[in-house]
Amino acid sequence: MNIALWLQRTAQQYPDRPAIALGREVLWNYRGFAESAARFATWMRAQGLAPGDRVALFMYNTPDYLPLMWGAWWAGVAVVPINAKLHAKEAAFICSHSGSKIVFCGAEARDELEAVLRDGGNAVPVLSSFAFLRDASIAPSAIEPRGDTDPVWLFYTSGTTGRPKGVNLSLRQLRWTCMGYLSSVQALAPGDVALHPAPMSHGGGLFHLPYVMQAGINVVPESGGFDAQECFDLAAHWTEASFFAAPTMVRRLIDVVKKTGQRPTGLATICYGGGPMYLADLEEALELIGPHFAQIYGQGECPMMITVMPRALINDPTQPRYRERLASVGFAQSMVEVAVVDAQGKDVPTGETGEIRVRGEAVMNGYWDNPEATAASIVDGWLYTGDVGRLDEDGFLTLLDRSKDLIISGGSNIYPREVEEALLTHESVAEVAVIGRPDPEWGEVVIAFVVTRQPMTAAELDAHCLTEIARFKRPKHYRFVDELPKNNYGKVLKTALREMDAKS
Ligand code: AMP
Repeated sequence: MNIALWLQRTAQQYPDRPAIALGREVLWNYRGFAESAARFATWMRAQGLAPGDRVALFMYNTPDYLPLMWGAWWAGVAVVPINAKLHAKEAAFICSHSGSKIVFCGAEARDELEAVLRDGGNAVPVLSSFAFLRDASIAPSAIEPRGDTDPVWLFYTSGTTGRPKGVNLSLRQLRWTCMGYLSSVQALAPGDVALHPAPMSHGGGLFHLPYVMQAGINVVPESGGFDAQECFDLAAHWTEASFFAAPTMVRRLIDVVKKTGQRPTGLATICYGGGPMYLADLEEALELIGPHFAQIYGQGECPMMITVMPRALINDPTQPRYRERLASVGFAQSMVEVAVVDAQGKDVPTGETGEIRVRGEAVMNGYWDNPEATAASIVDGWLYTGDVGRLDEDGFLTLLDRSKDLIISGGSNIYPREVEEALLTHESVAEVAVIGRPDPEWGEVVIAFVVTRQPMTAAELDAHCLTEIARFKRPKHYRFVDELPKNNYGKVLKTALREMDAKS
C-alpha cells in the first residue's frame, strides 16, 4: 500500500479540518493539502520521475515540507530529507549516494549546493521555489500503487566510518512507528496539534505521520526552528500541542519559565529523546512546566522509538523505584522486542550490562546501497543498536552509554570520525582524535586532540573545519599534544583521552 492513502483518507473524512499552519495562520486544510500533493505528483511525473525514484529535501522547516513529501509519496517516489545544517559537501554526498533526481532546497543553500554537485559531476536540478504546489491548473494524479517494503524515506545518519548511511524506511516501518506512537506514547484525536520546532529531516519529521493519519494540525513555527518562547506561545494559542524536543531544548524551555515565571498552557506532550536526559533536568521540567513529558529512545534504524517512558508513568510517583524509572528510557514500545546481550549475542541476566538489540516490524529494511553495513547491524533479524544498557526485572531499560564514540551536542549527532577526517585534510595535522566532553548546556561539546607537524593555532583549524564540515560539528576546544595514547595495535585510546580531558 502507498503511505499517501493516509492523507487521501483523512482528506476524505475531514476535508475542512486545518492540516498545516505557519505560526497561528492555517495555510492548508486537509482538502487543500491532499490536492496539492496530488497535483505535485502530476508535476513530478512530467519531470520524468517514476515510482521508486528518490528526491532530496535540503531545507529548514517550512509548511511546504509536508506537501513536498506527501506529493512525492503520492507519485510513488521516496524522499531523502537532509539536515539543513549540513555543509553543502555533506548534503551533496547524500544527494548523489541516494541517486536523488531532484533536490528541493532552501533558497539560502541553493547556489552552493548546486555548485558542489556540479563540480562533482552531478547535474541534478536544485529547486528552491515551489510554485507548482499552489498551481491549480495542474490536474491531480491518482495515487501510485506501492508495496509495503518499497522505500518511502531514506533517513541518512552519520556513519562511524565517516560516511553517512541511508536507513531505508518503507511503509512497513512507518506504519509500525505510527502504531507504536499511538499505542505507547499517546492516542490522538482530530484537531490535536503537532508543533515542529525540531528538524523535520530527522525524528521530529517522523513525528508528524500519526498526526496526518488522525487529522491533526501540523504547526511550523515562523522562526523555522526552535525558540522556547515561541513554542510556549504557539501551545497557548493552539492547545493540545505536542512536540519532540532534544534534552537541550527541554533545558531551554525550563530556562524560559524560570525567567518569565509563567507556567505554560496548552501543552499535551513534550516527547524528549535523542540523547541522555539528566534526572535533575527532568524533575525541574516536571515542576516548572508540568506533567507533560514522555520519553522516547530510538534511532534512525528503528524509528521513532525502541522504548518509551509514557506520561502516565513519569507522572506517577507512587510506583516502585520511581526515581530509578525516571532515569531509565522506559520499556519496549508495543511493536518491538528489546534484549540486552553479551558479545556472543546471548541474553545477559536481568540487571547486567550489555548491548541493546531490538527486533520487530519497526526495524529498518537495511542501509541504502550498503549491504556490508546492513549485515554488520542486523544479525539473525536483530538490530544491534551500539548502545549499552541494562534491563531491570520489570522490563525498564536504563541506557548507560552509547556506541562509545558518538557525540551528541545540542541534540545533534556528531561522529568523531567525520571531524577527524576533516581535520586530517589540513597539511599541518599529523594525527588527531576527537572526543565529547560533558557540558551542562549542550549535553556534550567536541574536543579535538591534535598532533601537528608544525606550530599552528586553534583559529587556523577552526577556519579549516568551516570549509569541510557543518558548523555544529566543529570542535569547541583544541588540545595540542606531542602524541596520542595508543594500545598495542596502534589504536588510539579514547578512554585515556577522556580521562586526560577530565583531569585538565
Ligand atoms: P539517531 O539515529 O540520530 O536518532 O541517534 C540515535 C542514538 O541517540 C541512539 O542510538 C542513542 O545512542 C541516542 N539516544 C536516542 N534516544 C535517547 C534517549 N532517550 N536517551 C539517551 N540516548 C538516546
